Amino acid sequence: MLGDDTTTERRLRLLQAEFTQHAKTGPGDGRTATRTESPAPLNLAVIDRIHAAVHEVIEHTRTADRSHPAGPAPADAARVYDWARQHTAHLDTEHQQARETLIYRQGLEHAITMGDTTVVRRHPCPGCGCWGLAWRPAVQRAACPNRYCLDDDGLSRSWPLATLAHRHIARQFATKSSAT
Ligand SMILES: [Zn+2]
Repeated sequence: MLGDDTTTERRLRLLQAEFTQHAKTGPGDGRTATRTESPAPLNLAVIDRIHAAVHEVIEHTRTADRSHPAGPAPADAARVYDWARQHTAHLDTEHQQARETLIYRQGLEHAITMGDTTVVRRHPCPGCGCWGLAWRPAVQRAACPNRYCLDDDGLSRSWPLATLAHRHIARQFATKSSAT
């Protein structure tokens, strides 16, 4: 079993609770005449993100093994990660690792969507190994705090979440295979 198996599902449930249910039971609950609709655009953006994330997992699962069709995805969106694991559990380690990398990366995305950007700090910089990565929303990347960690243009190095997820899960799989 991998360490934080349920984290991504839990974060997705939090996102759903925060952004898709508030929309129906917003402040005022009908008693005030001047109800504002201001939270709507944010909610819609988050709902779109949730749909895109779930769709990505479904597509990834279906293309992983075309000879054993995965069947309909679960109606409860947050169950999609368990569903993906069930339908790819028989595949080789490479597939397992790719699936876990995708799920882990989505967990980071869900946390950041909820405003918790500290999740990137739990990863060492892939370039220099130092700690203290900071999320840069404008570029959607985690930037290294080490001023000597620079790219070819002399700029601070920064990393997409996919790179952090790839390295994190690769380490987990390396630990797992050396333990058996
Ligand atoms: Zn660095």
